[in-house]
Amino acid sequence: MRRQIWIVAAIWISAAAVCAAQRERLEIVILDQVEVESAQMAYAMDLGRRLFDILGVETVWTVCHRGQPCPMPPPGAYLRLVVVPWTKGSALGFASTDSMTSNSPQAYAFYLPVTRLAKRTEQPLGTALACVMVHEALHLLGLEHASFGIMREKFDTQDLANVTRNPLLSATQIAQLRHGLGRRKAVRLTAER
Ligand SMILES: [Zn+2]
Repeated sequence: MRRQIWIVAAIWISAAAVCAAQRERLEIVILDQVEVESAQMAYAMDLGRRLFDILGVETVWTVCHRGQPCPMPPPGAYLRLVVVPWTKGSALGFASTDSMTSNSPQAYAFYLPVTRLAKRTEQPLGTALACVMVHEALHLLGLEHASFGIMREKFDTQDLANVTRNPLLSATQIAQLRHGLGRRKAVRLTAER
């Protein structure tokens, strides 16, 4: 147990150190295809923003509703997260790694499995949705699955409770995040030329 506490403390310190050293900015556009209840969506976006904030990344979250006009940020400056009802299997989401280097990387959150996760873990829907959206956004920035924290492949009750306080990325994952943000910046600068 003592060893686990040390590991968590080390991860927290590494994230905080990056946070203090440099802050990045990223826009996240949610395309809501299922019309998530507005209070839950607002909660999810606020929690998502706070989790990225802990990682030293300033994010601006906007939601676009089906059938309504949706002005997009400049190419390279944003990630797209599409909330859709369902897909095959029990996956909570999917990140299109093919789109990672494109102008508009795109990932999906699967609404029905997310609602089941919220029920199973007795957490608000907004909490489960935020954790899935941040997880998929981090995939789009180059992170892979880990055995702890926000990048766990599956969440249990304790995972959700823990990651709402801190996404818990390792120093290696923080470096991957910086690299992914650098790639976004390079795409944006190329598009601006
Ligand atoms: Zn994943």
